[in-house]
Order: sequence, then structure tokens, then C-alpha cells
Amino acid sequence: LSNLNNIDPEIYDVVLKEEDRQEYGLELIASENFVSKAVMETTGSVLTNKYAEGYPDKRYYGGCQFVDVAEKLAIERAKQLFGAEYVNVQAHSGSQANMAVYKSLINIGDTILGMKLDHGGHLTHGMHVNFSGKDYKVVSYSVKKDDELIDYEEVRKLALESKPKIIIAGASAYPRIIDFKKFRDIADEVGAYLMVDMAHIAGLIVAGEHPNPVEYAHVVTTTTHKTLRGPRGGMILTNDENIAKKVNKTIFPGIQGGPLMHIIAAKAVAFKEALQPEFKDYQIQVVKNAKVLADALQKGGLRIVSGGTDNHMMLVDLTPKGLTGKAVEEGLGKAHITVNKNGIPYDTQKPMITSGIRIGTPALTTRGMKEEEMKKVASFILAVVDNIQDDAKIKEVGEEIKEFCKDFPLYR
Ligand code: PLP
Repeated sequence: LSNLNNIDPEIYDVVLKEEDRQEYGLELIASENFVSKAVMETTGSVLTNKYAEGYPDKRYYGGCQFVDVAEKLAIERAKQLFGAEYVNVQAHSGSQANMAVYKSLINIGDTILGMKLDHGGHLTHGMHVNFSGKDYKVVSYSVKKDDELIDYEEVRKLALESKPKIIIAGASAYPRIIDFKKFRDIADEVGAYLMVDMAHIAGLIVAGEHPNPVEYAHVVTTTTHKTLRGPRGGMILTNDENIAKKVNKTIFPGIQGGPLMHIIAAKAVAFKEALQPEFKDYQIQVVKNAKVLADALQKGGLRIVSGGTDNHMMLVDLTPKGLTGKAVEEGLGKAHITVNKNGIPYDTQKPMITSGIRIGTPALTTRGMKEEEMKKVASFILAVVDNIQDDAKIKEVGEEIKEFCKDFPLYR
């Protein structure tokens, strides 16, 4: 990074400090991961210079012969990974992928049915200050109060009552398997499209650790940077040629201009990695690690929403310890443990305070941590939670974590 250091020492300093933070801290944000050096190299390559409006072999710019190869590889590999016939790899983000689907299939003012944000849904599934909540009529389903699982009865009831044009399955904070067939049956009953947003679980799906929605949904959206471990970006998959054509038109020229060719090429690299047998082993370990971590936290007196996890993440209810998500996020941060505060279903705290934190294992598993390390990570978390007022103790835990991280080098 010597060029960067010469031109812009302030940003150089930011990069170094962030590298340190990632290297010597425990990254437990469920939506984050660490890309390989190969993916990183591609994102920082000359491909960032290229304009390529349009699609492979049908561009509005000259000189696209090489980036065309990259985009075709990304598409072919994604098709293979998920068993989809049509893929758009140009969506700049998960949010833009979702926007593209809504704009392709329904009109402004139509009804969408998605999961409540405070029960695990995403902003783009109908939150009132998001475009999805402003442009469409939103009806939202919940998880049940007793077992904290998706209330499929309620989904059906709301669908029959409100006749949505799109039903959205998929979540940002739901620790259990989602029954896509049930969603499809409901969608068929009311004549709605089923869109599955698999952003969080895409990597698990590749490895068969979660059912694949492509066979049930009319259209599937995802991010590429969570469990899938690619560069930040979005993607849309379908087996319906008509939907594929509409989606392509909506992405370009509908809502985006030039595709990010360096990112699309990096998606291709990440997909190649995801096609290797080691990727399956990695995802199996992600799920094992989440179970061990959830179990250890439970034994330490915390409540895990829905009693555990089937995937890469868990929601931790802090009320048994009389603490808030805000306080614990801050406390863990002081010890170099990164999590996000998160509302739990039927939370009585405000969204900026919350009663919970969300924890995920994809990033630490990428570092090579396994079950034994998860027990250690749980003990670090509990040491902070149980000494939240004691800055000296938290500092001590932080020092121990720095040492612990040295056994699992990341980029250094
Ligand atoms: N969909 C789900 C389920 C998500 O969790 C997220 C991001 O957290 C998104 C979509 C949006 O992705 P992005 O942040 O790339 O816009």
C-alpha cells in the first residue's frame, strides 16, 4: 500500500487501523465474512476502470471483450452453484436486487407481504422509511410468541386477506430453517409471486446446509458477501425466462448504469471458490460452530431466541441478565468483540436500545476456528456480559482476545 501511503496518509491510516481491528478482534456480525486474497486482489484490479453498460456481447461500450468473459463466468458459476437457469450478477447490492424484483413484477401501490423488521425481516421487505415501505402497500407477518418460529398460519391468513402481489420469504435475523414449500403453496393459493431473499443463508444453501429456494420461488435474490464469502454485491436468480428478461431490463437501464466489473469478476472468483469441496466443509463448520456457541451462551445464563439455531446465526436475549443490546454491544466492543445490538421478537426496548444482540459464526469460521474455539469465544462474551461495569476486567479480556487471534491469522 505504499502508493496509498504517499498520496493519502489519512486513508492509509484508516486502512491499516481497520486491518488491525479485523486481525486482532473477534468478528461476530452475522452478515459479515472475510474474502480470500484472490477475491480481494480482483476487487482492487484494473477492472475498476471499465465501463460496460449492457450485458455480455450486447454492450453500449467498446473494449468489453475481457470483462465479458468475467461476467459470463460469474453467471455460469452462479447457475451451477444454485441450479438456476437465469442469473443477473450486476445488482450492486442486496437492496438493489430486491428493488429490481419489485419493479420488474409489480406496480407502485401494489401490496407486498414480508416478515416484520423487528421479527427478523430486512429493511427492503417493507420498512416504512425504506423505498419498499414508501412505494408499496405493506403487510407483515410475525414469528409466534411461544416458540419464536415463523407463523405460517398467519402468513396464509394475511395473504388471503390482503392478496399481495409478492410474498417475501427470507430474513436478516432468523436462526431457523425456512420452509420455502409452505411459502410457495400460500403464494399459489392467492396468485402471488414468491420472492426468496436468501442473502444470509446463500453459502449454507450451496453446501446443502439449508434447503435451496430456487426450486420453490419464482425469483431469488441474495447478497454475495455474507455466508457466500464474496465481494459486497447482489445477485438475482430465477428459472423463469420471462422474469429473467424483466429483471435484466430493470437492473439496466432501469435502476443502474455501468456495472461494477471489478466486483462482478470478484463474484466469479468467489463462486469458483464456492464450487470447491472445501467450501462445503466450511459451511458445515459454520453451522456446527453456531450450535456450540449458542449452547455455551445458554449454559452461561443467556436466553437464545427460539431455543437455539439451525443456521449460521443466533439471537441472544439479554433480559435474563438485566442488560440491553446497546450496553452489551458497547461492552463487547471494548474487548474487541464485534456484534450488533438487535431487537428480539416482541421486544419492549426501542430499536436503538434493544434487548438482544445478533451473533454469527461465518467470519470466525473462515479464520479456522472450530468447536473448541467457540467455547472459548463464549467464555469471552460471558466474561464481558457478567462484568459489564468493570472496565479493568473488560480490558483484560480484550488483551487475552488479541493473543487468541494471533493463532488464527487472517491477511497477515
Ligand atoms: N436482504 C437481507 C436478508 C439482508 O440481510 C440484507 C443485508 O443485510 C440485504 C438484503 C441488503 O443487502 P445490502 O446491504 O447489500 O443492500
